[in-house]
Amino acid sequence: MVLSLASRQNLILAVLRSSKEELSGQALHGRIRSEGGSMGLATVYRHLRSLQQQGEVRCRHLANGEALYAPRDRDVHHLTCVECGSSSALANCPVEQHSLAIHTPTGFTALFHTLEVFGICATCKATK
Ligand SMILES: [Zn+2]
Ligand SMILES: [Zn+2]
Repeated sequence: MVLSLASRQNLILAVLRSSKEELSGQALHGRIRSEGGSMGLATVYRHLRSLQQQGEVRCRHLANGEALYAPRDRDVHHLTCVECGSSSALANCPVEQHSLAIHTPTGFTALFHTLEVFGICATCKATK
């Protein structure tokens, strides 16, 4: 099956939306394959980049350099331990979208924000 550009990007978005967790490019590629889609890993990364430019997909990098992708509207932030690199999700978003709208210059439409908190996790603290 040959997919058009738009349907390839829709497929990537659909897979990201159907996953509760953020996905790496590799994991995303694996899911597309397991659902019978044929798309090379390089193609997956290329579409992820352009989806990011369109503001449809958000991306964050783990301490080991791995990039994780999620749909734009998923407003989840993480606490990342600088010792062991583990990260856990915050229950609520601490950013007030309302005040963001007030402080951004006129004519700028905010699509999403990113925020990461770094520190020492309880496990690492206990072993010090
Ligand atoms: Zn830790
Ligand atoms: Zn947020």
